[in-house]
Amino acid sequence: MNCSIISVGTEILFGQIVNTNTVYLSQELNGLGINVYHHFTAGDNENRLKDILDYALSKSDLIITTGGLGPTQDDLTKETIARVAGKKLEMHEPSFEKLCTYFKNLNRKMNENNIKQAYLPKDSIVLDNDCGTAPGFIIEFDGKIVISLPGPPKEMKSMFESVKDYLKTKSKDTIYSKVLRFFGIGESALETAIMDLINHQSNPTIATYAKEGEVSARITAKAENEAKAQEMIIPVINQIKNRLEEYIYSYNDEELVQVVAKKLLDEKVSVSFAESCTGGLIAAKLTSIPGISESLNRSIVTYSNEAKIEELGVKETTLKEHGAVSEETAREMVLGLKAATGSEICVSVTGIAGPGGGTKEKPVGLVYIGLAYKENIVCNQYNIFGDRNRIRNYTSMLALNMIRKVLEK
Ligand code: ATP
Repeated sequence: MNCSIISVGTEILFGQIVNTNTVYLSQELNGLGINVYHHFTAGDNENRLKDILDYALSKSDLIITTGGLGPTQDDLTKETIARVAGKKLEMHEPSFEKLCTYFKNLNRKMNENNIKQAYLPKDSIVLDNDCGTAPGFIIEFDGKIVISLPGPPKEMKSMFESVKDYLKTKSKDTIYSKVLRFFGIGESALETAIMDLINHQSNPTIATYAKEGEVSARITAKAENEAKAQEMIIPVINQIKNRLEEYIYSYNDEELVQVVAKKLLDEKVSVSFAESCTGGLIAAKLTSIPGISESLNRSIVTYSNEAKIEELGVKETTLKEHGAVSEETAREMVLGLKAATGSEICVSVTGIAGPGGGTKEKPVGLVYIGLAYKENIVCNQYNIFGDRNRIRNYTSMLALNMIRKVLEK
């Protein structure tokens, strides 16, 4: 089955909102083994939307629309789909009842426009909206399927859960996928390393994705049942593992911070940070994980030279001779942190996040990360490209990855 996604809304064409619905749906559909061939965006204009629908129907078996299901005059998606499908709009009693209750509870009068939301194309499967007022619907005609979902991402995502169940009934095969996450390798290097695997098989398929600093590979198998699909995936994962194990931090689509937090908690290891250029970012990431207080002792933002001297005992001479961004300073920072906290893992970070402050010898993006664990101290130098945000974010991920590596040994 192949699919086209149509986003409806003039504000998307004006660039006033980012089309996150299409991103979400594309990823989800890919995970279900449905090929997404086209993305379209239409403004709130019936004729132009009809043109796109006609075109998309000529190219795809499945069309998913988002947006334009609301109560106002410019919400035209439902009317246009009904026109294209040759179906009348008719009152859907349960949706009408739900709307009445909704307005009664709000103590507000329901007007004609609101009632319009309870009208849906004849013969459609109605999708309840648990987070809003506009129901969605699925309509099948001429061997095609059109699914219409509301625009607000929260409503769309919640409704898509029922759509998934529906789509699974349309395929006799079960789709199963696993996502491997990598750190320290770029998407093109990953793709090159497994190009033969990507090219030489259509089931399972392998697709790579990149997000800031991290890349993922989704392996998807189609089979008559889930157990068989899982079995088909194992040899592919093993081949990828044989080649790239050092970069893989999750076989279950987890975030790096989740993996590190789990390791720290499982192994009951305490951790503290002295953060300069990341300014608390590493601690902010870790504190997003519930329960991390069992491991995370503290993070001290030692941004100025004085802070490094006063809080961590970095020597003034070290700062003068080698500078705040140097291996020597990172080492003294981590030693001072260890002495002050006694945490089993101590991490120090110092770097130049830019855009100013770089020199030929010490360019923007130069970062040192010190890590003390048991009797060992390592201090790594990194040269990170990108703007201030990327440098700070990537540095925090490098620090988390260093913790992961020492705990894996
Ligand atoms: P409502 O009942 O809220 O009017 P609707 O189905 O008519 O829902 P729209 O009016 O088209 O949806 O969009 C409502 C809001 O949903 C938009 O203002 C925007 O914030 C968000 N939205 C719509 N489409 C998208 C999209 N493709 N990606 C991300 N957000 C979107």
